[in-house]
Amino acid sequence: MLQTRIGSRWLVPAVAWEAGKPLVIEEVEVAPPQKMEVRIKILFTSLCHTDVYFWEAKGQNPVFPRILGHEAGGNMCDLLRINTDRGVMLHDQKSRFSINGKPIFHFVGTSTFSEYTVVHVGCLAKINPLAPLDKVCVLSCGISTGLGATLNVAKPKKGSSVAVFGLGAVGLAAAEGARIAGASRIIGVDLNANRFELAKKFGVTEFVNPKDYNKPVQELPMCGSKENQANRKPGGWFLALFME
Ligand SMILES: [Zn+2]
Repeated sequence: MLQTRIGSRWLVPAVAWEAGKPLVIEEVEVAPPQKMEVRIKILFTSLCHTDVYFWEAKGQNPVFPRILGHEAGGNMCDLLRINTDRGVMLHDQKSRFSINGKPIFHFVGTSTFSEYTVVHVGCLAKINPLAPLDKVCVLSCGISTGLGATLNVAKPKKGSSVAVFGLGAVGLAAAEGARIAGASRIIGVDLNANRFELAKKFGVTEFVNPKDYNKPVQELPMCGSKENQANRKPGGWFLALFME
């Protein structure tokens, strides 16, 4: 589907012209990288719920036209992830994409729905050249979000109990983080029982499907009810992570 004039400045990305409207494959001009920027060829990209969220633009500033996508063969940096309203480069506050001179905005400093993109060096991470790019692209957001939520934010202690609400990519990575941290009980909560088998590989030890109970999941004994808290051994503690 994608076409590129090799050696030229043209590329054919999926452009989001308006909120909620289908992405359009367009021939777009990409300017050369400026100071502290790199132009990279995207070989694989994945679709994250965040792309859909900002494409729908129901709860945030609409920044259009824009080239979405933020999971490819690299890592995002905090510097550029903080401001999702920004659609331009840090160096000169301009976009590197245009169609007939009309600027097309960037998305979280990456815009990976494009065969070529220009990013700030802070958005890149050098990885092992043997790593399969069609798989590592999901490490850029979903996996690092879940793993980081557990290891860098929640920081469960060894032997603690952890509940992960939602066993999608982010939730599974959160469970993996809990496993690495040495949690002894990792309770996976999800409405979709089909996810439970896979979740075992990520360290989940128990499963709760809220559909099987007639009271809120937080009142269940295994999920931190008052009775459960009263019965807990000293030093043990309960941690809940809410994931998409
Ligand atoms: Zn994402």
